[in-house]
Amino acid sequence: MTYDDNNIFAKILRGEVPCKKIYEDDYVLSFYDINPQKKIHALVIPKGKYVDLDNFSENASSEEIVGLIKGINTVAKKLNISVDTGKGYRALANISEHGGQEVPHLHFHLFGGERIGKMVE
Ligand code: AMP
Repeated sequence: MTYDDNNIFAKILRGEVPCKKIYEDDYVLSFYDINPQKKIHALVIPKGKYVDLDNFSENASSEEIVGLIKGINTVAKKLNISVDTGKGYRALANISEHGGQEVPHLHFHLFGGERIGKMVE
């Protein structure tokens, strides 16, 4: 799938659509999900144009890959849900059709602030 520059997260990255920002650095932007599924529901997205995790793994630079993984940890610490600062959380990436991905820009969901429950329905 080619990257769609008009997807909602691309617009957020360009500042055309507002978000409730949690954290930003050279590699990632993190903001609260507009439709939270748990007490804490954050999103972490890479700044580069990657459709999904497979596309990212195949095309992103080592720096971008490290930046995204480190970014998840930084956000978890900021939200006090990391192993260091809280009681843990779930990081989840939906990938393409069977994964149930709706927004075609790679994103990790971070769920926390309470027990998350069953891994899949
Ligand atoms: P997915 O199904 O994994 O693609 O998840 C997409 C997520 O993006 C959903 O949880 C939506 O609630 C969330 N979402 C869609 N639009 C926005 C937005 N403008 N700001 C924040 N989160 C959004």
